[in-house]
Amino acid sequence: MIRVLDKIVADKIAAGEVIERPISIVKELVENSIDSGADSIIVEIKKGGKTYIRVTDNGCGIPDDEAETAFLRHATSKITTAKDLDAIETLGFRGEALASIAAVTHTELITKTAESKSGVRLLIHGGEVISNGKTGCPDGTTFVITDLFYNTPARLKFMKSDSAESSQIIEFMSMIALAFPQIRFRFINNGNIVFSTTGQGDLLSTILSVYKLSEYKDLVPVDFSSFGNRVTGYISKPSLSRTSRRNQVFFVNGRVVSSKVIEKGVNEGYKERLFEGRFPVCFLFIHTNPEKLDVNIHPNKKEVRFDDEHEIINLVSAGIVNALLRNSAVIEAKAKDVKNYEPQVKAIVQTQATADMPKADAPKIVEPAEPVENVKKAEPIEKAEQVDIKQILSSKPPRVAEKVIEPDRPLINIDAPVNKPFDFDNLNPTGAIFNTYITATDDNGFYLIDQHAAHERVFYEKLVGEYLADEKPRQPILTPIIIETAPSVIEMKEEWLGCLEEMGFDIDEFGGNSLVVREIPTFMSMLEAENFVREYLDSAADGGKTVNTVVVNKLITKSCKAAIKAHDHLSIAEIESLLNQLKACRNPFSCPHGRPTFIRFTKYEIEKMFKRV
Ligand code: ADP
Ligand code: MG
Repeated sequence: MIRVLDKIVADKIAAGEVIERPISIVKELVENSIDSGADSIIVEIKKGGKTYIRVTDNGCGIPDDEAETAFLRHATSKITTAKDLDAIETLGFRGEALASIAAVTHTELITKTAESKSGVRLLIHGGEVISNGKTGCPDGTTFVITDLFYNTPARLKFMKSDSAESSQIIEFMSMIALAFPQIRFRFINNGNIVFSTTGQGDLLSTILSVYKLSEYKDLVPVDFSSFGNRVTGYISKPSLSRTSRRNQVFFVNGRVVSSKVIEKGVNEGYKERLFEGRFPVCFLFIHTNPEKLDVNIHPNKKEVRFDDEHEIINLVSAGIVNALLRNSAVIEAKAKDVKNYEPQVKAIVQTQATADMPKADAPKIVEPAEPVENVKKAEPIEKAEQVDIKQILSSKPPRVAEKVIEPDRPLINIDAPVNKPFDFDNLNPTGAIFNTYITATDDNGFYLIDQHAAHERVFYEKLVGEYLADEKPRQPILTPIIIETAPSVIEMKEEWLGCLEEMGFDIDEFGGNSLVVREIPTFMSMLEAENFVREYLDSAADGGKTVNTVVVNKLITKSCKAAIKAHDHLSIAEIESLLNQLKACRNPFSCPHGRPTFIRFTKYEIEKMFKRV
């Protein structure tokens, strides 16, 4: 017999689709609170939200005669016609959440609008109204949800441990607090305040309130626009990195998303600055035309697809490159890294480079009691260079961000770190130590500059510049180079010939399996050119996708070989000229392998080390 299910049964079934676990309830209620225009939202949970969830806001409230209506399926104040669907600005609109929540819990609603003298208190158990009456309460809305799935034991069984459920809620609350820094959030778990934000609109202070990590104070602001898209947020200097992407958070038009495309942009942006396997910390907000993206509307999925992925990759990477070029991005030695020492002992105090720096074992403090041999030595350069460059650089160097672009609006920043581009002209070189590190000062700091790393950077950019230039200077060679290769490589000539020609090679078939090279780029020697073409064709035979990597590797190796060695003595004039060339670089603060070129000791930090402040 076919029957229409009664409302309570139907709601219970439908609820299963919207409400899977405690996080679903928290999400729906908090999004309703945001839609209500609240600027303060308090969320409290107990036992992972299984027994107790309370969400209190100071938003518009629900008029007393509409309180029950709000719990009807498809009851919403947010859209009235199908046309409205195209222009949704609120987080919710399906009008299903309250009906679903109420169907599988004990729900209490206390709400009051500003216009109304008194509030209303409504109790619903398993979808049935138990009571509805007046009550005194402040403007806004409170939902108290208890005993989730008390009437659907099968669902109850599927819930995970309290801590597994609460960790999802913590994650969600952290994200929503970051997405809405202008809303004051307070989040309480089992009676403890997990975090509370100020709601003053400042993203960095919101990040600090949520994560409570003092190292995040040094995050660098990002604000960059191109092609009508904008990226804002905060990212870590290369000195702070992690072993996973866990600390990378992305929002697109205010919603938290996971996106391989944005990840790719981040990789590109940090490419020459971080070693393989290290991941920067980022909080990035992409603002783009909603028509240019496809958000999966399903509430629990957060994948997003961009119409033009390259546009977004370039936006993110240029935003990062631009941000890291700023003064605030120079790696700094911190007084906290200098261990306290007893003034009466003649200790050698050395600063420890910030822990996460690419070369992780910079000199440690020399303990007075220890023999000097026990001191961990700095990693030899050779070892650092063994890092697989191929993986660091998986494509052509970016053409982006040739000049620093000023953000559209002033950036708000609690600690107000110096955020103008680093000014090389204020740098006053004073000499060099160990024939390896140039020393310099400016008004506020003392700098050590690794002369080899600096020179490598200068060479590298010169070579990349030549490689990317439209006009390639070529040099004819007296005896043409003949190269034998596989027939399959000759067969797929279109795949690689254009690229080599673009680089400045004149190369052609020479009968059989041979190729003849008559002209080579000016920045290569004969031998280099020959090896280069061989390597290039090899990788073309392997599938062709790695050819750009070969180019870049070559440029890096060459710049490294050409650069002055660490122990070459430089005159002051040579130092000045090197700094001038570094100044002209797109990315002066790290060598092409990702090691820093510069370390800054601010005057303040030095004073702190000497306990003067
Ligand atoms: P939706 O959010 O999709 O409209 P819900 O079932 O979540 O559907 O909510 C139904 C309606 O109840 C909302 O459209 C809104 O009018 C009202 N409402 C829910 N929560 C609140 C709140 N915290 N403050 C004010 N109104 C609310
Ligand atoms: Mg809703």
